[in-house]
Amino acid sequence: MSLDIQNIRSQFPILNREVNGKPLVYFDNGATSQKPKVVLDVLDEYYEKYNANVHRGIHTLSQEATDLMEESRRKIQAFINAKHDHEVIFTRGTTESINLVANTIGQLLTADDEIIITEIEHHSNIVPWQLVTQRTGAKLKYIPLTAEGILDIAKLDELLTDKTKLVCVNQVSNALGVVNPIETIIKKAHAKGAWVLIDGAQSVPHTKIDVQALDADFLAFSGHKMYGPTGIGILYGKEEILNQLPPFHGGGEMIKDVTMEVSTYACLPFKFEAGTPDVAGIIGLGAAVDFINSIGIEAIHDYEEELVNYTIERLSEFEEVVIYAKDAKHAGAVSFNLKLDGVHSSDVGMILDKKGIAVRTGHHCAQPIMHHFGIPGTVRASFGIYNTKEEIDTFIDGLKTAIRMLG
Ligand code: PMP
Repeated sequence: MSLDIQNIRSQFPILNREVNGKPLVYFDNGATSQKPKVVLDVLDEYYEKYNANVHRGIHTLSQEATDLMEESRRKIQAFINAKHDHEVIFTRGTTESINLVANTIGQLLTADDEIIITEIEHHSNIVPWQLVTQRTGAKLKYIPLTAEGILDIAKLDELLTDKTKLVCVNQVSNALGVVNPIETIIKKAHAKGAWVLIDGAQSVPHTKIDVQALDADFLAFSGHKMYGPTGIGILYGKEEILNQLPPFHGGGEMIKDVTMEVSTYACLPFKFEAGTPDVAGIIGLGAAVDFINSIGIEAIHDYEEELVNYTIERLSEFEEVVIYAKDAKHAGAVSFNLKLDGVHSSDVGMILDKKGIAVRTGHHCAQPIMHHFGIPGTVRASFGIYNTKEEIDTFIDGLKTAIRMLG
C-alpha cells in the first residue's frame, strides 16, 4: 500500500511556513519532529476541558484527567508491546529515563561492579554512567568502534564478565543514523546475567519495537521525536527489575505512607512518578501514538528507508562528500561532511538554511564518535514521515550551491 504523503503533510501546520522566503524543508527530525494537528488539538482540548491534577481529588475533572492519562499509558504499553501498563513510567524524556536507571541502579552498585556502554552513544547515555561509576567506584567499559564507525560487536565477549550489571546501547545512533545489533547484545548480556538498557530515542519513531520479543530490560525514549510534545518521555522497565530498584525522585504520589521517620513507597508505576506529571504532554503523546498507528509503524519504517537510501544514493554522486558508515544499515538519518579544506559542517548548514532547509550540524551530543573520526562534527539529514524525495532533491541542489560557494 502506498502512503498518501501529501495528505500526511497537510496534517502538519508548520509545513506551510516559509523560511528565508523558501518552503520549509525540515530535515532535523532527529533533534525533534514536527507535530500533527491531532496532537496540537488534544493539548488545547485538555486545557480547555479537563485540566485538573491527577490521582488526587475525587472530583469529576480530576477523574477525567486521570482516565485520559492512564489511557495514554495503555496506548504506549500496546505500542511497544509491554506486558503490563505499570511497566511504562512517565519521565521528561530519554535523558531523564536514563538518569532514573543510572541513579537507582547506582544505589545498588559497588566498586566490584561493571557497566558497559559504547563509543557511539549520545551524551545522555554516557554522562549519567560516568557520574554513577565515579560515585560508586564501579568500572565503566566501552564497546569500541571499527574504523568505519560501527560497533565492533566481537569485542563484547571480552568486555562482558560476571561483574557486568548492565549494558546500555542505543538502537539507532543519533549521530550517524546507524542501526546497532541490539538483539545480539541483549542475548550476549543475558547469557552473563547482565541487564540491558536500550536508548530508543532514535529508533522508536522509525521502527517497530516489541520489548517482549526483544527481551529488553529497559527502553528509554522521548515523545518529542515521535510527533508528540516536548517534555514527556518514557522509561519502560520489566516489572521484576523495576520492583528491585529503589525510588528515584522523592515527593508526592510516589509514597504509600510517610511518617517523620520513614516512608514506604507506592507500587509501580507511581513509585517512579513523584510530583505532578505533565498531564497534557502525556495525553499529547497518546495522540501521537494514535497518529503513528493510523499510518502504521511498519509503513513508516519502509517509507523512511526509501528516503534514507535515496539520500545516500544522491549524496554518493559527489566526490566532495564523505558519508559516515555508508554501508551500514541506517534508520531515519544520514551523516556526512564535505571534504573541502577548512570547511566546517556549520558552513554547510548555514547555506542550506538560506534555502529553507533545516539540517543539524556539529557533534550531535555524541563527541566520542566525532573523536573516533577525528572531526569536530557532521551534517545530519534526518527524516520524518512527511518528508519527500522532492525535498531530498531540493536539499541536493542546496548542497551543490554549498560546494560551489565553499570549494
Ligand atoms: N539518546 C539519543 C540517541 C538521542 O538522539 C537523544 C536526543 N537527541 C537523546 C538520547 C536525548 O533525548 P532527550 O533530549 O529528548 O532527553
